[in-house]
Amino acid sequence: MSRTVVKIPKACKKCFHITDEDVCPLCGGQTSKEWQGYVVIVDHTRSEIARKMGLNANGKYALRVR
Ligand SMILES: [Zn+2]
Repeated sequence: MSRTVVKIPKACKKCFHITDEDVCPLCGGQTSKEWQGYVVIVDHTRSEIARKMGLNANGKYALRVR
């Protein structure tokens, strides 16, 4: 069996985007492993949550980032 590396997802402190990277690919902000809950935005132009959170792209976003 091959070994699988499981990356712990992180969330951007600035825009809440969820990513594996240490630096957010969307805004360049710092990411954190301390986050809770997430939403998946499939159409940010129609999503009320996206509008409230000020999101300009589709993707996964954390609800709370510490
Ligand atoms: Zn970001």
